[in-house]
Amino acid sequence: MAWDFDTDSAYAERLAWADRFVRDEVEPLDLVLGSPFDKANPETVAVLEHLRAKVKDQGLWACHLGPELGGQGYGQVKLALLNEILGRSSWAPSVFGSQAPDSGNAEILARFGTEEQKTTYLYPLLDGRIASCYSMTEPQAGSDPSLFTTSARRDGDSWIIDGEKWFQTNARFAAFFIVMALTDPDAGAHHGMSLFVVPAGTPGLEIVRHVGVGTEAAERGEHAYLRLTNVRVRAEDMLGEQGQAFAIAQTRLGGGRIHHAMRTIGMARQAFDMMCERAVSRQVRSGTLGELQMTQERIADSWIEIEQFRLLVLRTAWLIDKHQDYKRVRGDISAVKVAMAKVAHDVVLRALHLHGSIGISNEMPFSRMMVDAETMALADGPTEVHKQVLARQVLRQYTPSTTLFPSYHLPSREAAARRYVDGLLEHVVAQY
Ligand SMILES: Cc1cc2nc3c(=O)[nH]c(=O)nc-3n(C[C@H](O)[C@H](O)[C@H](O)COP(=O)(O)OP(=O)(O)OC[C@H]3O[C@@H](n4cnc5c(N)ncnc54)[C@H](O)[C@@H]3O)c2cc1C
Repeated sequence: MAWDFDTDSAYAERLAWADRFVRDEVEPLDLVLGSPFDKANPETVAVLEHLRAKVKDQGLWACHLGPELGGQGYGQVKLALLNEILGRSSWAPSVFGSQAPDSGNAEILARFGTEEQKTTYLYPLLDGRIASCYSMTEPQAGSDPSLFTTSARRDGDSWIIDGEKWFQTNARFAAFFIVMALTDPDAGAHHGMSLFVVPAGTPGLEIVRHVGVGTEAAERGEHAYLRLTNVRVRAEDMLGEQGQAFAIAQTRLGGGRIHHAMRTIGMARQAFDMMCERAVSRQVRSGTLGELQMTQERIADSWIEIEQFRLLVLRTAWLIDKHQDYKRVRGDISAVKVAMAKVAHDVVLRALHLHGSIGISNEMPFSRMMVDAETMALADGPTEVHKQVLARQVLRQYTPSTTLFPSYHLPSREAAARRYVDGLLEHVVAQY
């Protein structure tokens, strides 16, 4: 029977190396350097190159990708164990070649891209030489793709795209955009939309403004409001088949959601560690904060929630490795997505609260973490939608009761049990 919570010793050693490396050599970058996606900045590129070489030496570069794409083909469980370390740092995913949104974009380019698209976009992306943007959400519609209006119309050998996109992560750094557009409005959202690879600088592609999250200043914001006016791309720039955008997006988002969840374990643990340090350090009249029962309850609840969440993430990663099919684990991924936002929110809020005024100040990372936690509840679909997905999938496994009372109605079950036991007694008593 295969049932094992151990990490094999060779990989455990690599994880121990990653843990030290991220703590000593990567986390400091978060505090003093700008975005790791800014490939136009020679400092960023040089630092990334230097650190990536060390990661590659350890065989941990893009470890979720197959060897044909320069990775190790370790799969999702091993990636989960690594990602919970990387989740402590905003630079770490870029140093290890698993940064969103590039990782998801690389995944769909690898699976659905043409040779030309792979050469022009995928390989430079995998090498970390360029950054990318995924363009789906629109100002008037996010959760419900049937309300998207960005369209592409055929014009000879070209497509002409018109519309607006909203909250476009890394648009300011992107060398290309993967844009979702309606190509056949009559076919509806599921079959009438297609994806296009649009190079940055294409005439008509305009960043209306940059948008920051939380209290971030707009000029530093990394999520753009994008407008496409008569943007002409070649027919060969379509990614995948016409009408396939929704199906491809689900593949992309399936991976993206679980990868975020893996990293969220790291962030929640970081908040938890800070909370525990505070609990044993801060004095109150009767001793330390940690000696107060309400503090102990916060710590116990947080520990349990993080461990429960971690098990759910690892089990879902294991299911993805086993089935190699995101569709089969859609409900599980939705469960992870919902739990991720709640665990992050609850643990970070408790940690912030236990730190008092310094906790809410800009001298601690909790406000940013709170915004990150809320982002988990919105980006890639809000919590409500994922609860619906999960519940629908669960309910599909049940059939309605055909009797007046529920099938587990005790008097009915007791009558059936009585008939069974009477028959059994008649049989065994006659025998002995
Ligand atoms: C940090 C961040 C980065 C992002 N990056 C990108 C990106 O790179 N590319 C991209 O295309 N998009 C990106 N997004 C957009 C993201 O995918 C959307 O925010 C998300 O799909 C929700 O859409 P919306 O913001 O329009 O909210 P809405 O769809 O307006 O939903 C708002 C709220 O309404 C409620 N709601 C909506 N639908 C339902 C429902 N069916 N049942 C019950 N309640 C419902 C929920 O409470 C929800 O939170 C990003 C978002 C964030 C926060």
